Amino acid sequence: MEKKPIMVVRSSMPPYEEFIEEIKDLWESRHLTHQGPKYHLLAEKLKEYLGVKEISMFANGHLALELAIEAMGLTGEVITTPYTFASTTQAIVRNGLTPVFCDIREDDYTMDVSKIESLITDKTSAIMPVHVYGNVCDVYAIEKIAKKHNLKVIYDAAHVFGVEVDGIPVGNFGDMTMFSFHATKVYHTVEGGGLVFSDPKYQTKLAQLRQFGMQGQESVPIVGTNAKMTEMHAAMGLCNLRHIDEEIAKRKKAAERYLQRLGGVKGIQLCYPKDNVKGNYAYFPVVFDGYKYNRDEVSDLLAKENIFARKYFYPLTSDFEAYQGKFPIQETPIARRIANSVLTLPLYADLTVEEVDRICDIILQ
Ligand SMILES: *Cc1c(COP(=O)(O)O)cnc(C)c1O
Repeated sequence: MEKKPIMVVRSSMPPYEEFIEEIKDLWESRHLTHQGPKYHLLAEKLKEYLGVKEISMFANGHLALELAIEAMGLTGEVITTPYTFASTTQAIVRNGLTPVFCDIREDDYTMDVSKIESLITDKTSAIMPVHVYGNVCDVYAIEKIAKKHNLKVIYDAAHVFGVEVDGIPVGNFGDMTMFSFHATKVYHTVEGGGLVFSDPKYQTKLAQLRQFGMQGQESVPIVGTNAKMTEMHAAMGLCNLRHIDEEIAKRKKAAERYLQRLGGVKGIQLCYPKDNVKGNYAYFPVVFDGYKYNRDEVSDLLAKENIFARKYFYPLTSDFEAYQGKFPIQETPIARRIANSVLTLPLYADLTVEEVDRICDIILQ
């Protein structure tokens, strides 16, 4: 019998009955969008779970990021990483700003903080680092540099829902932090995203930006877009939040099996959990450097067996055709080497230990 295909991610769903129960009252209220009761309930519950003071939620994480940049009034250049999903860099460029690419660290692929200061110019207004794969950036060093040079910090935290560093929930660093609630993430609302921050002054601006720049029904003080989270999406979020601890525990089991099977193999580089970080096991990136098969060969071997890993992140965002000739592009040799040798293996809550073994057997054959 053909074994069923294994994709790199598989969205978790609450029990069908639970979701149906959650949306039942919408047939009565007909309050389907515009920050209804479900939006507000989810906002309260997420603030508690994420351990943050303020939250504002949107149709998706990318629009949240674009609007974060706009709400903070950033200008000129933003120091960021090319080792990320398209969204991070596109959010900067779509705001009319120039991304300045900082290289990453060899071991956890987050921004190399020792290289930030040499990229700062009199046009720099912010740093936009990414907590990739569930790995936390050097938040303390970034805070120090930002204070010293009077820069804002916006974290792309799409991969670190529920993560804590030194017992501090990860959304408490920087001026603003974006979480994506996309269907493929550890926690999701189908599509959705949230900005968390401590300064309540951003709430009004973000709410206006999300609602066509409107304040009430007759006043339009700023230029805005439509980026509202619907009550249907908030309902999915309420359901999924009830199962988040189980979600992370199941991912942990699969990730630990991968670590057991692939750890210590020559030419295979893994990310190990850090003692001071409570992780969420969002992704399982493997760097093949000096292994008997290169990254593309491993990807092909798996694909032949109906297992679909992903070259995530490849290419670097600084290599996108869209940007060539538009602004200077910094060379980032470590990010380039990792992008050329990384493969993100399947990881999701329903992935069984037997399936992890099947994947590892193919890689180790
Ligand atoms: C998923 C993701 C985003 C965008 O989030 P959406 O909710 O899909 O718009 C941004 N940055 C990173 C690193 C992501 O993985």
